[in-house]
Amino acid sequence: MNPPEITPVAHWQSVAGHLLPYGRQLLDEADIHAVVSALRSDWLTQGPTIERFERRVADYCGVKYAVAVANGTAALHIAAAALDLKPGDRLWTSPNTFVASANCARYLGADVDFVDIDPRTYNLSVARLEEKLSATAKSGRLPKVLVPVHFAGQSCEMEAIATLAKRHGIRILEDAAHAIGAGYLGRPVGSCAHSDLAIFSFHPVKIVTTAEGGMVVTNCATLHERLLLLRNHGITRDPKLMEGESHGPWYYQQTELGWNHRLTDLQAALGECQMNKLDAFVARRRAIARRYDELLRDLPLTTPWQHPNTANAWHLYVIRLRLDRIKKTRRQVVEELRAAGIGVQIHYIPVHTQPYYRRLGFKDGDFPEAEKYYAETISLPMFAGLTDGDQERVVETLKGVLR
Ligand SMILES: *Cc1c(COP(=O)(O)O)cnc(C)c1O
Repeated sequence: MNPPEITPVAHWQSVAGHLLPYGRQLLDEADIHAVVSALRSDWLTQGPTIERFERRVADYCGVKYAVAVANGTAALHIAAAALDLKPGDRLWTSPNTFVASANCARYLGADVDFVDIDPRTYNLSVARLEEKLSATAKSGRLPKVLVPVHFAGQSCEMEAIATLAKRHGIRILEDAAHAIGAGYLGRPVGSCAHSDLAIFSFHPVKIVTTAEGGMVVTNCATLHERLLLLRNHGITRDPKLMEGESHGPWYYQQTELGWNHRLTDLQAALGECQMNKLDAFVARRRAIARRYDELLRDLPLTTPWQHPNTANAWHLYVIRLRLDRIKKTRRQVVEELRAAGIGVQIHYIPVHTQPYYRRLGFKDGDFPEAEKYYAETISLPMFAGLTDGDQERVVETLKGVLR
């Protein structure tokens, strides 16, 4: 079935001096109605809408279990905790990501290290991973958890990554914050065919939104049970999970230390309604990406290369400036685009160069491919509500700046 057509509406144009953003939500009357209905219901949190939203995402991904949480960061936190990541353990991820992919290890007292990126996909490089695993296996300091990040909405090479991880007994947690609606080898990202767990974010710039929100998905019943516990203080009401006898119908037990990472029913109602439009949103993003590829063809820049095994959900559309063929710096290009009303952004500042991670011993030059990429990249406006006219304005402005 073809996804329904969506009609982009240029909301931001009514606000004088407003930048065309790089990403934003697309809401309709059905979304607003869904949230108002939740407000009028008996449940503002921990009600039936949460389970419906979870089932919806699980079914979409073809995965057994889904656990909704307050945001993508909380999803990474309880997912890493469910894998028993603790002080003395190590988590490896990509330096080309949002800081949350690495921070989840630090919350649990574990150490972080990075694997440099592939120069074509900007995802964690399988070749660099293989080298680093061989080098590290000798010292016995292998990671417990690997977090591949599906950058911009394009899946990592999960088959190869899973083969390497299995060889060394490493668990895989996919950071799919950019990639709900994406595909890999004919399956939806989030199917967990090559991982223990995957997480999504529903921040407004992501593919579908709940304002703040996130989800962990898994096929493992044991991990699912732990995720439910960790989302809710480590508390259970299930007598089967208790130590000793239940005292009665009021009784609950805290069996370990968890957090309050719950999502509200208002947000779940929005998420459930947004899921109706996921395929249409991704179809629109794909059309925008194809058009950018076309319109930017003759400019001194590199458009995003697509691995044949992947079907991108296009959270981001990143270009790489050919600085050898331009008379301006990347900073000048960004500043001139912003001055002309095009709200471009940079994804990402390599995580290991953040002051917090420098204090842990990382330095410039540690992950040269991610640093080189960072120096040349710009994210152009990309969201389901971007109109053809907006896109032409982006391209014409960019042409003028690069001329
Ligand atoms: C957005 C994002 C997160 C965190 O999600 P929040 O919902 O903002 O907490 C984690 N990882 C990546 C790669 C992201 O882009």
